[in-house]
Amino acid sequence: MTGPSGAGKTTLSRRVMAEQPDVTFSVSYTTRPARTGEVDGVDYHFVAAEEFERRLADREFLEHARVHGNLYGTHGPQVRDRVGAGGVVLLDIDVQGARQVRASGIDAVFLFVLPPSQAELERRLNQRGTDSADVIARRLGIAQREMAEAPWFHYLVVNDDLERATGDFLAVVRAERVRRALPAVCRSLDLSFS
Ligand code: 5GP
Repeated sequence: MTGPSGAGKTTLSRRVMAEQPDVTFSVSYTTRPARTGEVDGVDYHFVAAEEFERRLADREFLEHARVHGNLYGTHGPQVRDRVGAGGVVLLDIDVQGARQVRASGIDAVFLFVLPPSQAELERRLNQRGTDSADVIARRLGIAQREMAEAPWFHYLVVNDDLERATGDFLAVVRAERVRRALPAVCRSLDLSFS
């Protein structure tokens, strides 16, 4: 899952995971300081730059990127183990990370969460009240460039109405589960599958 800050990814993903408890969140590593209310090990693994660099050198990250001046990375073994065990893992990553995941060849579905409009995105970022004015201005500029990449994603979910957007997201999870069950269904019915 990708989308600009303020598109509502966190809210949406929490709702999806509440409905689908076997969808688990990939807790990223970041060098960004924790915001008020964020919990280490739950929202992120908050680490110093040295630890991040060490993990990077040890090839622990499936993907990593510098976003808004901080480093973020997805723990590769954690994701691969859960996917290998048949689980669904939700990654909240930026477009640079999404491109790396696509290149990794891992069986991933790419979903882009869009805000209903530029004005609404600006309003949401201001309302959050956790970032300064220059941080918000920088995020808006980055959001424009990120949204230009939305067309290559498998699914676009416009978060204008939270109920509908959650429903769309859940529909994607469900459709992808059905698609992945296809080989097993064919085998059980003795249908040839290629
Ligand atoms: P925030 O600092 O607001 O939590 O996140 C800023 C941006 O970093 C968001 O767009 C989020 O999707 C992205 N992000 C969070 N974790 C990762 C990660 O592990 N890898 C990448 N590439 N981006 C991430």
